[in-house]
Amino acid sequence: MNKPILTIVVPCYNEEAVLNETILQLTGVVNDLIEDSLVSKNSKLLFVDDGSSDQTWNMIEQECEKNSFVTGLKLAGNVGHQNALIAGLETANQYSDCVISIDADLQDDINVIKTFLEKYWEGIDIVYGVRDSRETDTFFKRNTALFFYRSMERIGIKLVPNHADFRLMSKRALDELLKYKETNLFLRGLVPLVGFSSAKVYYDRKERQAGESKYPLKKMLAFAFDGMTSFSVAPIRLVTFIGFLSVLISVLVGAYAIIQRILGHTESGWTSIVISIWFMGGLQLMGIGMIGEYIGKIYHEVKRRPRYAIEVDRFTSLMKEKQQELVMK
Ligand code: UDP
Ligand code: MG
Repeated sequence: MNKPILTIVVPCYNEEAVLNETILQLTGVVNDLIEDSLVSKNSKLLFVDDGSSDQTWNMIEQECEKNSFVTGLKLAGNVGHQNALIAGLETANQYSDCVISIDADLQDDINVIKTFLEKYWEGIDIVYGVRDSRETDTFFKRNTALFFYRSMERIGIKLVPNHADFRLMSKRALDELLKYKETNLFLRGLVPLVGFSSAKVYYDRKERQAGESKYPLKKMLAFAFDGMTSFSVAPIRLVTFIGFLSVLISVLVGAYAIIQRILGHTESGWTSIVISIWFMGGLQLMGIGMIGEYIGKIYHEVKRRPRYAIEVDRFTSLMKEKQQELVMK
């Protein structure tokens, strides 16, 4: 087997505080991999600047000049982690045999990348990095995450628990992934749908090295909700079920009201009427909101908007040059 060209894709949004350290450490990783003859000398790091407003892109460009492993992709605006990641993957795919995605904050253990590659050499197409312990996460984040994975599983969404977007994909797996053209991206849910052979590699997740999390609670909840409604219609079924149940209850309440009337205690029915008005009103609102969620999704999908726009692509130009050099020789 020829040594594969590996590209490590790193989405970065306002990561100036940690970026230099990340570049340093990942460069070390690629160097080691080349020395161990696990990857080709043409392997690269691809930093995707997701419309940062700080020095992130300048730092990437500076590094491109002096570090031959570093390339960069500048997106024209901030499109979010998942879209930035797919932009990087799509760009890398053309000139890579396998691609690893990892966050810029060094929370994921870069020492297991070697194991990823070993698995790849064994012929495995998708290698998931899975967190072994979540001790560095807060009690709250740990438990909400657990609850999230459990409920996703219950409504039939295949996910690898405790796996974020730290994974290796072979070119053919990535080719398949890139055929999913949906606008509401939830890569963690899509990758298992692709199929192919897969393996899990366990590691300890560390604290963020520097800078702040770009996923505050609000974004985290939105992301979880998005994941759920992008892949399953179970929430809609639940609403239908609750609706059905409340119709049954209202029949009982109706019978009770009629009996009360016959007995002549009409004013006592006031309570139940008020309660049911509120109850039904709430249910209807909930149902409408839920349906609206799906209609919103359809609305976004039918527009077929591009997921990102590239401003500068230093990866493709560099790799093209390399290829031409090879042809000339
Ligand atoms: N990120 C991005 N665009 C965004 C938000 C985040 O590209 O709009 C990147 C960020 O730079 C990091 C990764 O996505 O490399 C994960 O973000 P973060 O570490 O803040 O999330 P957390 O680990 O706290 O969930
Ligand atoms: Mg992080």
